[in-house]
Amino acid sequence: MTSLSDIRSTFLDYFKRQGHEVVSSSPLVPRNDPTLMFTNSGMVQFKNRFTGVEAGDYQRATTSQKCVRAGGKHNDLDNVGYTARHHTFFEMLGNFSFGDYFKKEAVPFAWELLTKDFGIDKSKLLTTVYHTDDEAFELWKKIGVPEDRIIRIATDDNFWRMGPTGPCGPCTEIFYDHGDHIWGGPPGSADEDGDRFIEIWNVVFMQNEQFEDGTMKPLDMQSIDTGMGLERIGALLQGGHDNYETDLFKALIEASAHATSTDPFGDQNVHHRVIADHLRSTSFLIAEGVLPSNEGRGYVLRRIMRRAMRHAHLLGAQDPVMHKLVPALVQQMGAAYPELGQGQTLIEDTFLNEEIRFKTTLDRGLKLLDDALVDVDEGADLPGETAFKLYDTYGFPLDLTQDALREKGHGVDVDGFDAAMAEQKAKARAAWSGTGAAADAAIWFDLADRHGVTEFLGYETETAEGQL
Ligand code: ATP
Ligand code: MG
Ligand code: MG
Ligand code: MG
Repeated sequence: MTSLSDIRSTFLDYFKRQGHEVVSSSPLVPRNDPTLMFTNSGMVQFKNRFTGVEAGDYQRATTSQKCVRAGGKHNDLDNVGYTARHHTFFEMLGNFSFGDYFKKEAVPFAWELLTKDFGIDKSKLLTTVYHTDDEAFELWKKIGVPEDRIIRIATDDNFWRMGPTGPCGPCTEIFYDHGDHIWGGPPGSADEDGDRFIEIWNVVFMQNEQFEDGTMKPLDMQSIDTGMGLERIGALLQGGHDNYETDLFKALIEASAHATSTDPFGDQNVHHRVIADHLRSTSFLIAEGVLPSNEGRGYVLRRIMRRAMRHAHLLGAQDPVMHKLVPALVQQMGAAYPELGQGQTLIEDTFLNEEIRFKTTLDRGLKLLDDALVDVDEGADLPGETAFKLYDTYGFPLDLTQDALREKGHGVDVDGFDAAMAEQKAKARAAWSGTGAAADAAIWFDLADRHGVTEFLGYETETAEGQL
């Protein structure tokens, strides 16, 4: 069986032979972009190369990039456990041209690697192009893709932008048809979200620049940016369609089953998938020094950790579990990512602390949620106030509550949640005014806003004890 590490090397070696510099993955916390929560694609570390702000020694590069999509523009958190192809953490393989080669080289590179080096059956592949991109259409046709398997797409799925302004351009995506025993329709169809046709590779042709006044001009420097999910191509080359059935995920799922004395498959499998996925993203973030907190990146980390803990709870775990799975992850990925082994103790301790901290309120909060659901009609939303109470008193991130409710066919009244949050902030501010300590209060509320109300112990114990 071709392992994920073999696939990673085959990819990088192929592009090295085509004159690309093999560049290491950049960190998940972007060094050059404060507006971005986490690195979510291979191009992030090269932004300044694409805009021409920075020059470099090489004009072609290839990477295997650590990515997290659990917040901001790309958020796949809600897909985990529901699709065969989404993770919060994944590795993106990519090749890049900075004003060097363009479409007529990039398309054959992708095709040759997939069909020769990886030996993928051509008749199972189909491609999409942006509806006006005749050049890309012709290139696929010339390479031998039948016309009815080159789909023109008019949406932004096939038009990429770096931001509201700056470089942009059409993309072409390569899909694999896993067969009609799996639900899903071809790209552009109503059922495209199914897992039958899986997007494996996305190739962006940066050819325009978008300006603030809405106009777009051709770029002097035309570039290529591509991304292929290692876990997706891995599933395919290992003979399956499901990322969670690759060698690496099987090992993590087995570790999760072992630690909870449960069956790795059957009904419990979905919980193991979530746990295995969340174990990866959270461990990689902690290894880079992100720690759980109530704001920013730390809060995204906490949300993912707590979600994983709820799924461990659903498996019947009484004691902390997540920290026990870290060695399996280090064993699977430590060779490619030494930071995991170096950070192992920190990762385990962080998990254990967070698990202990959250355990009691998790149990109580879930009970409150069950009780509250008795009064909610089938398919109706949970009142925002209840979701807010779970957040404020029990430390339930909103998306954890949503995740718990989704299985039962309910949503949350998010407007109601926001209103309850705003009301509480206003009340707390009012209670402080007039005490003569306005300056202190201003500082304090600023902290409370940034760190979240649950970090304010006086407040937390007051509400918590009232309820518990
Ligand atoms: P999808 O439509 O399946 O959500 P995407 O179009 O959002 O994928 P891109 O932004 O084009 O994905 O990213 C490039 C490649 O990275 C994809 O073709 C896919 O192989 C992989 N990829 C994207 N998101 C994920 C994810 N959440 N988990 C695993 N692999 C991913
Ligand atoms: Mg996506
Ligand atoms: Mg897509
Ligand atoms: Mg895509």
